[in-house]
Amino acid sequence: MPPLLLAYIVASCLWEGLTLVLNHRQAAYVLAHRDTVPADFAAHVPLQDHRKAADYTRARLWLGSVRGVVGTAVSLACVIWGLDWLAGLTAAIPTPWGDVALVVVVSLPGMIVGLPASLYGDFVIEARFGFNKKTPAIFVTDYLKGLAVQAVIGLPLLLALFWAMDRLSAFWWLYAWLGVVVLMAAAPFVYLRFVAPLFNKFTPLADDAMRTRIETLMARCGFQSSGLFTMDASRRSSHGNAFFIGFGRAKRIVLFDTLLATQTQDEVEAVLAHELGHFKYRHTLYGMVRGAVMALVMLGAYGWMCRQPWLLKGFGFAQHGHAIGLISASLVLGMITPALTPLSNWISRRHEFEADAFARDMVGANPMVSALTKLSRDNAGTLTPDPIYALVNYSHPPVPVRVAQLRAPLLHARPLHPAAAS
Ligand SMILES: [Zn+2]
Repeated sequence: MPPLLLAYIVASCLWEGLTLVLNHRQAAYVLAHRDTVPADFAAHVPLQDHRKAADYTRARLWLGSVRGVVGTAVSLACVIWGLDWLAGLTAAIPTPWGDVALVVVVSLPGMIVGLPASLYGDFVIEARFGFNKKTPAIFVTDYLKGLAVQAVIGLPLLLALFWAMDRLSAFWWLYAWLGVVVLMAAAPFVYLRFVAPLFNKFTPLADDAMRTRIETLMARCGFQSSGLFTMDASRRSSHGNAFFIGFGRAKRIVLFDTLLATQTQDEVEAVLAHELGHFKYRHTLYGMVRGAVMALVMLGAYGWMCRQPWLLKGFGFAQHGHAIGLISASLVLGMITPALTPLSNWISRRHEFEADAFARDMVGANPMVSALTKLSRDNAGTLTPDPIYALVNYSHPPVPVRVAQLRAPLLHARPLHPAAAS
């Protein structure tokens, strides 16, 4: 068997196996702690809700495992038996159209596999636990709109990429990277103006008392925003959340209507203070810089690998071309990149701690603790995750750890934020 193909099969099986082991650990740990609410939460989370969180976590893990195994099997089958053959079929189409066609055709099986998993996730699991508010009609229109958005944004980008590979020098990847940076900067605006309105309605926050409180909080944090909106998340799901998006003066704060329905004003303020903490400590900016550096390294690796004669030979592919080269390079990188997930999750968890500390400094620990407790209870998030699973997979620290940090500020190395002193 060609060496890269063998390595790809081994790496895919190892990563998938590792995922299954971790999922199993998490499911077993959650089950073992299903009948006891952790002491810190006993007063606010009824046993019934704690059990529901355990069952919900296990159901989602099970679906994730099935989806992962089927997805890996389909990818392996595609690479072993389909890719070279499909590249032969699309070779007759002139570049860059043939290259785009190959990428689209190769991504179809993954999309087809994902569809039943999404249906099952929404209409069986989310419905069983009382979260799903989607009707089949909303599901279908969302799915079609999603495909349309991918086509409208993705196809021109792919065409531009293959055009660059064909016409520009060996440094096409550097031009592609410049394009990526521009796209990263433009993405929030494109998302806010063109994509998000396709899926949700954004209404300026109507509750005057709440708006005044939030505006006061923003002024105290030195945060300028071009608007405060609620989003009709309840059309699809009863999970609650809040986020802000954009840069400079064009930042918007968006509160899910589901959050406003269940949290007190103090708690909503705490959730927002946490979001403002991300802004204050420039987490979004660092994230973008990290993303840009990562994209440069990856594209550089693509550029180098696509010139190497061993790449296509290593997979045993007889066909040549930009698309099959790029896909092969992505298969090689795909053997390594899962190792980076724990690192990026670790960075993300540090940022969450900082944002929590900022919220505590701005509005006090209690509203943040009760907001987190309520969010975790209402979203059926488990309070008893397996520590190793959480270490690898959690982008946010487990809620009990966050609550402990909020309650024990002396353990936190970072001093009070200057804005909190005023
Ligand atoms: Zn956060």
